[in-house]
Amino acid sequence: MKTMDLNLKKHFSDLLFLPLGGANEIGMNVNLYHLDGKWLMVDCGVGFAYDIPGVDMMTADISFIKKHRHNLLGIVLTHIHEDHMGAVQYLWEELQVPVYATNFGANFLRTKLEEYKLDKVIPLHVINSNKPLDLHPFKIEFIGLTHSVPEMKALLIRTHRGNVLHTGDWKFDPDPVVGEVSEKEKIRELGDRGEITAVVCDSTNALSEGHSRSEGELYDSLKSLVEGRQSLVGVTTFASNIARIHTIARVARDCGRKIVLAGFSLHRLHEVGKKSGFFTENFEFISDREIKFFSKKEILVISTGCQGEPMAATRKIATDSHPTIKFTRGDLMIFSSKIIPGNEKKIFELFDELAKKQIDVMTEKDHFVHVSGHPSKDELNEMYQLARPKIAIPVHGEFLHTKAHCELAVSAGVGRVIQIENGLAVKIDHEDPANSAPIGFVKSGYFGVDGKQLLDLNSEVIRERKKLQNAGIIFISFAVNDSLALLSKINVAAVGSYDFKSDHEALEIIKKEISIFLKNKAKELDLNSGFGLRFLKKKKKKKSLQETKIISEIEKSLRSKTLKLVEEFMGKRPALEVAIHLVN
Ligand SMILES: [Zn+2]
Ligand SMILES: [Zn+2]
Repeated sequence: MKTMDLNLKKHFSDLLFLPLGGANEIGMNVNLYHLDGKWLMVDCGVGFAYDIPGVDMMTADISFIKKHRHNLLGIVLTHIHEDHMGAVQYLWEELQVPVYATNFGANFLRTKLEEYKLDKVIPLHVINSNKPLDLHPFKIEFIGLTHSVPEMKALLIRTHRGNVLHTGDWKFDPDPVVGEVSEKEKIRELGDRGEITAVVCDSTNALSEGHSRSEGELYDSLKSLVEGRQSLVGVTTFASNIARIHTIARVARDCGRKIVLAGFSLHRLHEVGKKSGFFTENFEFISDREIKFFSKKEILVISTGCQGEPMAATRKIATDSHPTIKFTRGDLMIFSSKIIPGNEKKIFELFDELAKKQIDVMTEKDHFVHVSGHPSKDELNEMYQLARPKIAIPVHGEFLHTKAHCELAVSAGVGRVIQIENGLAVKIDHEDPANSAPIGFVKSGYFGVDGKQLLDLNSEVIRERKKLQNAGIIFISFAVNDSLALLSKINVAAVGSYDFKSDHEALEIIKKEISIFLKNKAKELDLNSGFGLRFLKKKKKKKSLQETKIISEIEKSLRSKTLKLVEEFMGKRPALEVAIHLVN
């Protein structure tokens, strides 16, 4: 299958769906739609990177659409989550197309673009969700769906070749606290009129039975945990979850506590939220420096870092390294969040730190402190009953989730269900839905966000870095004359590899082997006639080039010889570099 390349010429006038990221994973959503040679991108997100030294974030490989960027009409963002808009600042320069978001989405994105000095560069347009966005041949209507952030917009992408409902992340929640209730009626009407050809839909909770619980139910539960407590209370949650922060703030107010926000991203969200018309209730926020003026039972801290992030506020509180917020024995930290797969280790370390300090910990495992922002099976089923699409293409889930979602869509009566992969283009055929099918692959993959550079995760740099992490590096350098006689001592520097300080003998053996090697090499090249390498040069005419070539060959064979020796001492292979300075 992977060998089948997408033949774009053949499918020039077909409606295609092509995810470059987010199809077999939760994160890095980058979706493309194609028709009549034109492209539309929906979302541009990042994902967490694991086990890659120095790289915490990844983006999708967008080299395919970069080649077609002159036909890319724009990037439409469904909502503010990092897995949907977190890569704009990294990838936009390669695409240079307009970006569309809701008012809140644009306000949020702008603060991030300011950090990267891109706020004046990127053409960022605020959509009017009551007016279709016309990017011919795509006409996009916006349908509000509830999620754990406000202004999540599903897109109805209308074309002359059929219409696609791209759901984004959603749930059906009668009481979302902040943001809109899902516009089910709009979807029902479209379904009744048979207008939805395909649904491209969230699979995050496709393995969860029943219906997701409502955000509105959390207030009573959280209040019962905080009420009457004399200790300091902290609640850590996702910094983007305005509804949750709103609920926690209400609990604080109703329990007579002032609210302290701990963590940069919470302050940013609070500012952007206010600017966008949220946080209108009168909550009493105070700064962390003012804590000292109040007793413990008068304070509730909302902190970042519910995923165990090492630099975030909750970790600082747990390790007692926060400058102003001090938790002690008997205080309480509530994790109003879920454990995102992959973050278990960091989160359990955090639980452990808190437990060592006798701080009480409550999580969703033992108390009702969190609800998901994604649809469980009953909601997915309801979505298919409302939309009644001819085709379903589940995305936003690991393979296991999208597989379960496919099965659910089949049992919900969808005639054509397609399990997608990153880089796989699917033809959506509205006249003959059964004919909708995968038609070929384009290049896909991952790039790691490494400081200011984006690195291909299959690149030499990443391979070398992993090697260094695994076994360190040894540098060997010395000077020779053109007869390969040593002019300096042999320097051996081991960084994060072998402990030569405690094993002088090993160091001496290496140095001795190097001098023997050099003598033998000189004999082999017959350099002792007095002419040295210069003699070889004269013979070959290409002077310094030839000399450099011989030296680099000697470096190479010395490298592999020394590496074998080091491997005997270490029992593993570090990186090893040899630098020979030729002094004429
Ligand atoms: Zn998402
Ligand atoms: Zn989301």
